[in-house]
Amino acid sequence: MKFREMDTQQIETALETSVRLGLKEAEVNKRQQLKGYNELQEGEKQSAILLFFAQFKDFMVIVLLAATLISGILGEYIDAIAIIAIILVNGFLGFFQERKAEKSLEALKQMAAPQVQVLRDGEWKRIPSREAVMGDILKFTSGDRIGADLRIIESASLEIEESALTGESVPVAKLNEAIRYDVESIGDEVNLAFMGTMVTRGSGTGVVVATGMETAMGKIADLLQSTETQITPLQRRLEQLGKILIFTALFLTIVVVATGILQGNDLYTMFLSGVSLAVAAIPEGLPAIVTVALSLGVQRMIRKNAIVRKLPAVETLGCASVICSDKTGTMTQNKMTVTHVWSGGKTWNVSGTGYQPDGEFYDGEKKVAPKSDKSLHQLLTFGLLCNHADLVVKDSKYVVDGDPTEGALLVSAMKAGLTRESIMNNFTIVKEFPFDSTRKMMSVVVKDENGKQFVVVKGAPDVLISRCDSILWSQKSQFLSKENINHVQEAINGLARQALRTIAIGFKPLSPGTILLDEAEAERNLVFIGLQGMIDPPRAEVGLAVKESREAGIKTVMITGDHAQTAKAIASQLGILRGKEKVIEGKQLAEMSMGDLEDVVEDVAVFARVSPEDKLKIVKAFQNKGHIVAMTGDGVNDAPAIKTADIGIAMGITGTDVAKEASSLILLDDNFASIKSAIAEGRNIYENIRKFIRYLLASNVGEIMVMFFAMLMALPLPLVPIQILWVNLVTDGLPAMALGLDKAEGDLMKRKPRHPNEGVFARGLGWKVISRGILIGLATLIAFIVVYKNNPDNLVYAQTIAFATLVMAQLIHVFDCRSEKSILARNPFGNKYLIGAVISSLLLMLIAIYYPPFQPIFHTVPIAMRDWLLVIGMASIPTFLLAGTFLVRKTK
Ligand code: ATP
Repeated sequence: MKFREMDTQQIETALETSVRLGLKEAEVNKRQQLKGYNELQEGEKQSAILLFFAQFKDFMVIVLLAATLISGILGEYIDAIAIIAIILVNGFLGFFQERKAEKSLEALKQMAAPQVQVLRDGEWKRIPSREAVMGDILKFTSGDRIGADLRIIESASLEIEESALTGESVPVAKLNEAIRYDVESIGDEVNLAFMGTMVTRGSGTGVVVATGMETAMGKIADLLQSTETQITPLQRRLEQLGKILIFTALFLTIVVVATGILQGNDLYTMFLSGVSLAVAAIPEGLPAIVTVALSLGVQRMIRKNAIVRKLPAVETLGCASVICSDKTGTMTQNKMTVTHVWSGGKTWNVSGTGYQPDGEFYDGEKKVAPKSDKSLHQLLTFGLLCNHADLVVKDSKYVVDGDPTEGALLVSAMKAGLTRESIMNNFTIVKEFPFDSTRKMMSVVVKDENGKQFVVVKGAPDVLISRCDSILWSQKSQFLSKENINHVQEAINGLARQALRTIAIGFKPLSPGTILLDEAEAERNLVFIGLQGMIDPPRAEVGLAVKESREAGIKTVMITGDHAQTAKAIASQLGILRGKEKVIEGKQLAEMSMGDLEDVVEDVAVFARVSPEDKLKIVKAFQNKGHIVAMTGDGVNDAPAIKTADIGIAMGITGTDVAKEASSLILLDDNFASIKSAIAEGRNIYENIRKFIRYLLASNVGEIMVMFFAMLMALPLPLVPIQILWVNLVTDGLPAMALGLDKAEGDLMKRKPRHPNEGVFARGLGWKVISRGILIGLATLIAFIVVYKNNPDNLVYAQTIAFATLVMAQLIHVFDCRSEKSILARNPFGNKYLIGAVISSLLLMLIAIYYPPFQPIFHTVPIAMRDWLLVIGMASIPTFLLAGTFLVRKTK
């Protein structure tokens, strides 16, 4: 017999489980050992050896290997071996850096791994979905990704989207009854839910009937294997730049070699010069350092509670000019407490704080017993009936398990002495139409102890009132007149103006035998009972984050399903809504064309009473106005807007799997302030990359200048290829890396966002590279000429001086790269990694010069003490000159 044909009891027997208690942990272990983890096997990963060899397929390395080969053939063994050694060192460095980057991205994937809710030993808990086994009972709700193949045993308005398996994007309605007929395809399996598919509506529970590679998804897993490596726009631009540099290098090589040969120089020297120039022109270490800087930046973001799911987002974050954020839970604490209750023209205040179920009801100054007023009592009872939340004690504090809005209603009922256990003796829930943020309501069909049925509806008051035709007034039901509606509206606005979130409750008696087909039928012709108003205090850190974002040229927009007045009150408290900025409501938004919205959108600070579907329109309007938009979301219906936004952000705690999968960034703490921190980090990562691009390229320009001018002046080569290689691959790498770890400049969040299309050399970077490069080149050349002219017989000594001057000039210049403005604009020694890196590079240089076994390899001889003055003096000139011009400009 197949699972689809069995009833619940048969499934329990077949899988030796209990629908009421779940599996026992001991049994789970046994099953895990038997069948393994519930995961799809991944395709072959790139092995360490392959990754190591991948370091050598670079064009530059091929040029070098060819040079080695020719040196070898010509009998220049020392050169050949030295080049190979340097290539190997570089290969190892690249390998370890990439391994590290890969590992941290891998760890990131684990953090974003899906979880499921499982019943074990009679208790519901959350576990990583890989730990689920056959026979486990799982609970799922709208927005969840199904964690294993399940036979559904309970379902409420359940719909699942199975396009991952069937290609069909229309969700399938799912049932929990046994099916005793043949089905033709997976799409017809209406009482099974499959691993990897998405719950788009309703909720349910199911028994795991297949895990891992045995699931329907596992059977087609081979087809799904695609390991795409993500690269960021900057990395793409650098790849293009790399190609341009290679062609430039080739061109220079050909010119130099041809001229040299025509001038009658010896072939091998000319060949080596050509190779040296090619090596000098190409920043070999750059791509690896960019990868590492990105992955380290991603790790820093995790510490600030933001998980990057798509690497390009790291860069885009720095360009964000608008943050569209939810209110509830992101800007506010999502800890709700009912403080006011309204029914039939009367308002009661409720005392107590947080979720502590102790408090009293007051009519003005007078304490009242809630049971004394029938409407009040009914309002509280119905708030508890149409409710899923539970109150639990954690670390001796009351916390809500479930929706905080419902938690607040549960607590207000408890303050009146009502508990779920006690009212469930009198009522049974027959059917439920779950809450969704488009409808903004939830309802249940209830049967009382006498068998009478009625519907209880709760939801956004302005929506609910439009579904009512009568109202409880002075504890009696009466026709809902215009006047009554005005009273209700006044009450709603009064509560909302105090920043309270309002929930209305209504009901409708059903005549015996009525069968309600859908929510539209349930939620009409209602009797309005009253309102409960709850506070949800703003998060303490959000106001400052909004202010700092504004200073950074980033506009904050609140998008909420809540009432306009409530949203307005909170947005004003947080400094989001100021001066002439506008509030637009969902209704108005619906009437606006895209053009109308674009005309005003930059002046809007709050969108209230909107549906998730409206978010897409808002994102597009901002994008059409040229903005880079970050948009938050948590529900299934938020996914399209999250995908369309330049930076889609999902909530880590309240977010559904669907929202998380559509996002490029997940906020671990659901906190608006973390978005600002992530943006600041994104800006810093990009600026740091610019810093070391500037450093490495200026160094390369310097090297080319030295070589090229020397050739033009018919001087011998100031640097031998092995020295250039040593500088480019070894001594430059560490300081560049340290720049990648630099702290942000003080004014980074006071600047306007960067334009996303700006090129690598924007904002004066190109000029800095060329001007600094030329200065470094000239300083090195002058040091070389001075020493060479004094003692033309000792070329090796002059070359050692040139080598030392070049390295020193770069190691001084690296401190200048820490600031966009000047070395004097910030404490040059503020980066301890950089100081460590510079000291290491200095030591490496000294080893190449003073360690006797290395001297023949690097073509060096020891430098006399007095000549160090020349070296250091010349090496400092470029940076000091620039600092001087900065001071002059500042004093002017
Ligand atoms: P945000 O979009 O900022 O998170 P929100 O939480 O108010 O704001 P929704 O969750 O879409 O947005 O809720 C919209 C409205 O629906 C709320 O203002 C409230 O009146 C009502 N509402 C919220 N939760 C429930 C619920 N569990 N049952 C019934 N009505 C609810």
